[in-house]
Amino acid sequence: MYPTGHYGVALILAAPFAFFLGRKTGTVFSSFVLLTAVLPDLDKHLPVVTHHGVTHTFLFAVVAGIAVGAVGAAAFWAYVASSATSRWSNLTPKQVFTWATAGAFLGVASHVVADVLVLLPGTQPVSPFWPVFDRKLSVEVVPLGAPVRNAVLLVAGFVAQTLAFRYGPG
Ligand SMILES: [Zn+2]
Repeated sequence: MYPTGHYGVALILAAPFAFFLGRKTGTVFSSFVLLTAVLPDLDKHLPVVTHHGVTHTFLFAVVAGIAVGAVGAAAFWAYVASSATSRWSNLTPKQVFTWATAGAFLGVASHVVADVLVLLPGTQPVSPFWPVFDRKLSVEVVPLGAPVRNAVLLVAGFVAQTLAFRYGPG
């Protein structure tokens, strides 16, 4: 799938969280999910892993989530420790860990889901549940060409986010 489609699915999955988090926090959270949604495709640039391999599994989503959460919490802790007056003083490193882990998990998981939904011609299907079971999954949700499907998902993502922003509690 193209990055556009990945952003679309990430926005769709982040929308319910954005709804409950409210406008400001919800926007920060959705942006974070967007950023992490492209992590699995770094496998294209790594010599040892195959594309659509281990980084395209829910297991990797959990591992990457915890790793990003730990790095985020450590960076936040260092930032708070080095600055006398923090405008983020209402946050604790534990909360940063929780949210960064949840956001990165959701971002990576959305990527895996998106690659199941739209498989680009000439690429291998992904095995999201590896190593529990190795079955390769692909679903043709929208029977249109890959560019159209990617665009449809991106538009759906923006619609979902707009609805969350418009009708969220605050
Ligand atoms: Zn991918």
